[in-house]
Amino acid sequence: MNLVNLKDNDDQVGFAEAVKKGLGKHQGLYFQKEFAQLEDVDALLELPLVERSQRVLSHLIGDELPEGLLDEIVSTAFSFEAPLAKVSDDIYCLELFHGPTLAFKDFGGRFMAQCLANISEGQKITILTATSGDTGAAVAHAFYGIDNIQVVILFPEGKVSPLQEKLFSTLDRNIHTVSINADFDACQKLVKTAFDDPEVRDGLHLNSANSINISRLLAQVCYYFEAVAQLPKDEREKAVFAVPSGNFGNLTAGMIAKSLGLPIKRFIAATNANDTVPRYLQTGEWEPAPTVATMSNAMDVSQPNNWPRIEALVENGQVDKEDLTGEMVDEEYTSLAMKKLQSLGYISEPHAAVAYRALSNQLEEGEVGVFLGTAHPAKFKETVETVLGQPLNLPKPLADASNKPSLAVSVENDYEALKAFMLEKLGS
Ligand SMILES: *Cc1c(COP(=O)(O)O)cnc(C)c1O
Repeated sequence: MNLVNLKDNDDQVGFAEAVKKGLGKHQGLYFQKEFAQLEDVDALLELPLVERSQRVLSHLIGDELPEGLLDEIVSTAFSFEAPLAKVSDDIYCLELFHGPTLAFKDFGGRFMAQCLANISEGQKITILTATSGDTGAAVAHAFYGIDNIQVVILFPEGKVSPLQEKLFSTLDRNIHTVSINADFDACQKLVKTAFDDPEVRDGLHLNSANSINISRLLAQVCYYFEAVAQLPKDEREKAVFAVPSGNFGNLTAGMIAKSLGLPIKRFIAATNANDTVPRYLQTGEWEPAPTVATMSNAMDVSQPNNWPRIEALVENGQVDKEDLTGEMVDEEYTSLAMKKLQSLGYISEPHAAVAYRALSNQLEEGEVGVFLGTAHPAKFKETVETVLGQPLNLPKPLADASNKPSLAVSVENDYEALKAFMLEKLGS
């Protein structure tokens, strides 16, 4: 794989290097200029998830990992299913929440952890990542017990659902959680500052595990293939994907899948009130507003850090600009969409509901819609119960975590304070 820093064309690395570094110089994202089409998409769609994903990822990554290793990584990481649930005549939900932390981020998180553990060969590494909810849990669980890799997770205090918080803040050993009294964008800024600080970056061998890491994106490409594989054959060419978006890693992965030749007709970028992208697609003006808190809090992001990759895909002619529309769904319509789904016999949660609403609004005659179910409804138990007026049971991973005490430490929204904490805790 030849990955180019989108802020500095001279900074070019292979897959392993990009996984280890996360971000390049000037905080630039690594990305591939061109994705070669897969030749045998129809045949691939006949294969089971793990086998197909091994082929897709080996096409993307090439021979940089020793033979057999990639296959092993994929089968360890993708240890759960992604069923396509039929919700109405022409709409399906791709359920991405059957992994250990009940959110789609398990795909990227587990694949990345396996890649890094194998690539680093015992070298000491510190993962520093900011989470607005589900990344933290997925990353914490994916790396838990890999002893040469320490994990520091920053999260906005009080802005993550209590159950979600339990899923990442209750792990001990190599997992350290830090609450910051500010919003997610502020947490993300602290992470970026740390990566610009040589003392911390080099001293602690920093690596970022949020959706800017290329390995996470590549893993996510695989479930788009899984969705199309499960569609009836005569519906495959008409599929429109609605992606509930925050940092836009999920949508980037979908667009890579399309670049590889997967038949996806078009995409809808669905956001909550943090609608920088839908407004940009309408007006051409990039005008991030202050982040606002919503029910779909994993999407409370007003400066989505994967957007430059989507721009690059469009600029390089990998996907057409016309194949992407946006839609903002406010809190009232999010609740209405959850109730509508309930009336169809399908219990969902706010993130997926945002995508469902955007999809049912924009789906045209002759198209088939797939919205991504990014989290298990029980992860947002309080909200879902309030909106739907019906009690939810906790699946086992959540019930177990909810009984443990939080181990999170609170640190001010100040880089020097965070630096002192990290050097004391992890410096040798
Ligand atoms: C992270 C997350 C999203 C947003 O995904 P991005 O790749 O950041 O756009 C949507 N829904 C849920 C439940 C999430 O955890």
